[in-house]
Amino acid sequence: MRNSAESTQRRARLAEIYYETKRFKEVAETESKRAETLEASYQKLQEQTDILANAVYLDALTGLYNRKYLDSRFKALTSEKRPYSIAMLDVDHFKSINDNFSHMIGDRVLSAIGTILRSQLRITDQAIRFGGEEFVVLFAGAPRGAADLCERLRSAIERWDWSEICNGLHVTISIGVAGTLSAKSPNEILAIADQNLYTAKKTGRNRVVA
Ligand code: GH3
Ligand code: MG
Ligand code: MG
Repeated sequence: MRNSAESTQRRARLAEIYYETKRFKEVAETESKRAETLEASYQKLQEQTDILANAVYLDALTGLYNRKYLDSRFKALTSEKRPYSIAMLDVDHFKSINDNFSHMIGDRVLSAIGTILRSQLRITDQAIRFGGEEFVVLFAGAPRGAADLCERLRSAIERWDWSEICNGLHVTISIGVAGTLSAKSPNEILAIADQNLYTAKKTGRNRVVA
């Protein structure tokens, strides 16, 4: 009788252990699924943080870099003592485009200029929306090659089919170029490029002055 009682107790204990193990397994599975979900959320959060960090340097209308990015590049190039050139681009008679076609068409022109710049530039060069209807292109290396590239940009914008945006629309830009051959600090280089841009405007627009 004692044997049989012990054996019943053992069986009961075994059943208890069996159910406890099953329950622990279920808990472990639930926890593991929760860990997976947490990991996925963490990765998504990381991706969104990266997107936000990059967005700090981007212009929303054109998708180009913004002035904050240009400042950070200037700092890096100056501290590494690397040669570079910049082009200051300004849309010709942009106020008339806004007045004659609407501000919305003006915005679409700026956005299209962003697309053209991105498609024309080499991987080493970067386009920045400097503000309003002004852009800066940052070229790696001395200004000699930059002037030719600018002429290509100027001509690409002139030849673009602007009638796709609006019938009768024509867009041209003027460009001033300067680089580390002419001055040392970013501000001096920007000022020389701006002077050259002013000369391009004064001498008839739709041209490059380097
Ligand atoms: P110029 O050939 O001498 O450069 O003449 P301009 O008319 O282009 O020059 P101005 O500086 O007189 O006009 C620039 C205009 O650009 C004025 C401003 O309203 C417009 N503008 C600035 N930012 C934006 C923008 O984000 N969208 C639109 N649609 N217009 C803008
Ligand atoms: Mg301007
Ligand atoms: Mg202008």
